[in-house]
Amino acid sequence: LTFEQTGFPEQFIKKLSSGGFEKPFPIQAQSWPLGLQGRSLVAVAKTGSGKTLGYLLPGLVEVLKKKNDRRVGPTVLVLAPTRELANQIQEEASKFGRIAGLTSVCLYGGASKVPQMQMIRAGVDVVIATPGRLNDFIEMGQIDLSQVSFLVIDEADRMLDMGFEPQIRRIVENVPEERQTLFYTATWPREVRSIASDLLNDPVQITI
Ligand code: AMP
Repeated sequence: LTFEQTGFPEQFIKKLSSGGFEKPFPIQAQSWPLGLQGRSLVAVAKTGSGKTLGYLLPGLVEVLKKKNDRRVGPTVLVLAPTRELANQIQEEASKFGRIAGLTSVCLYGGASKVPQMQMIRAGVDVVIATPGRLNDFIEMGQIDLSQVSFLVIDEADRMLDMGFEPQIRRIVENVPEERQTLFYTATWPREVRSIASDLLNDPVQITI
């Protein structure tokens, strides 16, 4: 697969090439076509594999497809275990989102809620969040996830290790069942398999 063959919008392909990237990483060569076809997937892959763009670019294409709908909430939701990881993901999301006129916000704990709430209220296409903080906003009635059609669970095994399983399950109850779910984990033990089978409907499995 080449960047041109992906079918991504021209600006994304240019950005990938101008970023000094030569070709898709293996996880991208697998995730991109499936992501663009609307498939759900489980990928066992480590940090450094290129998984972030593996899910973000199909997610941004999903936002572009719905751009003319009157949306009241985000289209793409990414859950990540830590503030650091969530911030890194948002950097990539805003780098690519900006060229397509899309907006993103990063929601995480250990910081004041007010500025994050203001950004949600201003309207965003992509939300990247740690489970605890997002769950707080749901309980406060501060975020509407009813338009999410592209859900990403990143570093699922780490989120379970950190005890986030109840929050993840509650968050996903607020996302429509009719959605695409992309689930990334570095390891594949029984607890991870169990939550994957509860959250995903007929996924394709990828191992890198
Ligand atoms: P990730 O596993 O998503 O954290 O990505 C690891 C690093 O690889 C990041 O710094 C990306 O910018 C970089 N990267 C992602 N895709 C590619 C690619 N196709 N070619 C070269 N570098 C890439």
